[in-house]
Amino acid sequence: MREARILPIKVSHDFLTNIVKLAHELPRIFHWLSFTVVEDEGFSIDFAYNHQRGQYNAEEILNELKRRKGFRVLGVTQVDLYVPSLNFVFGLAEYGGNAALISTNRLRPGFYGEPHDEKKFFERMIKEAVHELGHTFFLKHCPRSYCVMHFSNSIYETDAKKKEFCHVCKRELEEKIESIV
Ligand SMILES: [Zn+2]
Ligand SMILES: [Zn+2]
Repeated sequence: MREARILPIKVSHDFLTNIVKLAHELPRIFHWLSFTVVEDEGFSIDFAYNHQRGQYNAEEILNELKRRKGFRVLGVTQVDLYVPSLNFVFGLAEYGGNAALISTNRLRPGFYGEPHDEKKFFERMIKEAVHELGHTFFLKHCPRSYCVMHFSNSIYETDAKKKEFCHVCKRELEEKIESIV
């Protein structure tokens, strides 16, 4: 069993319960990992803020996460993220690396003017976390729209996919983890 760490980044105190729930949920899919929530008040992302865009640069935050110890490190934030080539991203990860990052900002039904739905919100959060962690285990985007590794460009695509890997990605992942874990 290898240890993965979840680092809350710029989240409200109330939000931490969601992160704890996520830490309980993820080992159902990544059964060779244990997930621990590690709080670090000193981890600041101010340097990654882009005043013009009013968003945070996900690549710069990911670079900081890569430097942290841990077999896998998943940053979870409530702030909005972007990469220079896209308007926004739900998350980002280092392909085959140790670091992944997700933002829950655009996973909230409220972001789309819909009433809050805790179950829907949490399902989306799991999907994005599994997707980004999948990249750290060398998985690429999957053409199957129901697979968690399908690229989401919009929340509709996130909702359309499951939180599990399709049979092809699953097989690939199992081959990969045999050699890494
Ligand atoms: Zn992706
Ligand atoms: Zn797949």
